[in-house]
Amino acid sequence: MKALVYGGPGQKIWTEKPHPVIDKPTDAIVRISHTTICGTDLHILKGDVPAVTPGRILGHEGVGVIEKTGSAVRNFKAGDRVLISCITSCGSCANCKRQMYSHCADGGWILGHLIDGTQAEYVRIPHADNSLYPIPAGADEEALVMLSDILPTGFEIGVLNGKVGPGDVVAIVGSGPIGMAALLTAQFYSPGRIIMIDLDANRLEVAKKFGATDTVCAGGAAAVEQVKAMTGGLGVDVAIEAVGLPATFDVCQNILAPGARLANIGVHGTSVDLHMENLWIQNVTISTGLVNTNTTPMLLKTVQSGKVEPARLITHRFKLDQIEEAYRVFSNAAKEKSLKVIISA
Ligand SMILES: [Zn+2]
Ligand SMILES: [Zn+2]
Repeated sequence: MKALVYGGPGQKIWTEKPHPVIDKPTDAIVRISHTTICGTDLHILKGDVPAVTPGRILGHEGVGVIEKTGSAVRNFKAGDRVLISCITSCGSCANCKRQMYSHCADGGWILGHLIDGTQAEYVRIPHADNSLYPIPAGADEEALVMLSDILPTGFEIGVLNGKVGPGDVVAIVGSGPIGMAALLTAQFYSPGRIIMIDLDANRLEVAKKFGATDTVCAGGAAAVEQVKAMTGGLGVDVAIEAVGLPATFDVCQNILAPGARLANIGVHGTSVDLHMENLWIQNVTISTGLVNTNTTPMLLKTVQSGKVEPARLITHRFKLDQIEEAYRVFSNAAKEKSLKVIISA
């Protein structure tokens, strides 16, 4: 089969790989229908994730059709259409029992990381019963690709950890796919205002169409100043960090109202300056996390009912054998005006 293979920092190739086989009775083999590229894949290609070794097939998002199941798989059979979760979970270890699937003793984020991933014609999914979701008949399968990772990540680590509530003033720093996913799902809770902060004016225009009430096209001290001015000097109730840089984290910690929540989603590669000398007296809460995807069944219902429309995040479409071009477009987001790309078999 063909697959997108990591060749070391800066290197990737669309090449021939062996067809995956059932390794454990709880495995399933899925034929990929649609997959996508994540910001995390770009981190890997930069060499930021050394656990990914050359030869690894990238990708942790996608939908497909079950080709084969191991003898212990009970929930799925060949021919079933499935959504692949970016998090693999056994469902029975101590962390899975408390729905912290991201830290499953025999799973977590392993796809396209520690085992071969979804940017291929076929993928092996361990613990298939707990790591796949059935696709309802008639569902928009491209939209469901957004449920593999970005929608649950924006919702669980941004909106739920940030405890977004009715009337809250929410600021989201970073209007890439994850920030947009937080923007879409924050609206479940009727916040009073959602301020999107980014340096890319095009993305902020898109954010307005997705429900942002205010936008700030600035970074650093200028962004802090504008948010303070917009909120009568008070700051925000929830600041969601959706970039993963010291500068964007700094904006978040400087716009918090007393009692606010700072929900960090961004993948950080270096340490940040935490200003405890200012924060300690403010009764603020800071949260972090890797998505558990325990909200995926609920999010699936909201997509089915049209309450959220994640298909709006899709800006470009490619065929599987054009995946290298898809990477080029996705990694030049500002120039190409790209958010999520869909890659179809
Ligand atoms: Zn991802
Ligand atoms: Zn587990």
